[in-house]
Amino acid sequence: MKFLFPIFTIALLFFDVASAQINSPASDPLRVIAIFAHPDDADFRMGGTATLMAQAGHKVKFISITNGNAGHHEKGGGVLAKIRRAEAEEAARRYGIEEYEVWDYDDAKLLPELHIRMDVIRAIREWNADVVIGLRPNDYHPDHRNAGKLVIDASYMVIVPNVVSDTEPLKNNPVFLYMQDNFSKPNPFSHDIAVSIDETIANKVDGLDAHVSQVYEWMPWTMGVLDDVPNKEDAEARKNWLQNTYLNREISEAQRESLIKYYSERRAMSFQHAESFEIAEYGTTPTEEQIRMIFPMLPQR
Ligand SMILES: [Zn+2]
Repeated sequence: MKFLFPIFTIALLFFDVASAQINSPASDPLRVIAIFAHPDDADFRMGGTATLMAQAGHKVKFISITNGNAGHHEKGGGVLAKIRRAEAEEAARRYGIEEYEVWDYDDAKLLPELHIRMDVIRAIREWNADVVIGLRPNDYHPDHRNAGKLVIDASYMVIVPNVVSDTEPLKNNPVFLYMQDNFSKPNPFSHDIAVSIDETIANKVDGLDAHVSQVYEWMPWTMGVLDDVPNKEDAEARKNWLQNTYLNREISEAQRESLIKYYSERRAMSFQHAESFEIAEYGTTPTEEQIRMIFPMLPQR
């Protein structure tokens, strides 16, 4: 018995290490893929966390399913798609993530069609993803709802060899997470994991600043505040305006509660900026250890 104990302990340790990453080898960086509707969705909802993940050594890829070719009041079509692809690539460079891929489906016309689900399955497999992050299927924008459905409908299917048989299936169903939203019907977003992004709010602003056609043109036009946007010669004023207009939101009580769960109460109460994630039921349910491995910026136990 005396000799069995160390062997048992070593086996347990090995099991812990081997099981902490879902698909990639434990000795390699953890692999995260975020798939959403428009070039800028993930930027707004998880730009700070993506930067922190990249800084921690994770391989992070963003995919926008549509090319964003409807999101402007003066430009459209291929011209706009080209601008938005270049903006997305620049944003990726600023976050330090591996890739920001923009597919060519039309903006404002996305449906949860089977052939797009196949593309999503293939992309998740090719990334050998440990973690997949998408939008919830309830949201104000039909493209967001449909992108959310396409991603969650790929969960489980990614391990089925007879589906998309041209691409090797994953060994394990990844952890699927939802990015934060503020919609409450039929059910509110659950702040299962909350990350302080105070350290990377400047990177998030910098990444969003690359989406010029959106944050300084299209969105202000829809909000009727186009005249308030500082002109492009004053880069600092523009970034301040960006942060004040889009990002300086109060942390909600639910999000604060989740921050307290992961950080000490003293630290959690001082945070100004945070991003939350909900654990989707259809992927692998992560253990507390796996959550801390996926989010290494959280205090480790
Ligand atoms: Zn969007």
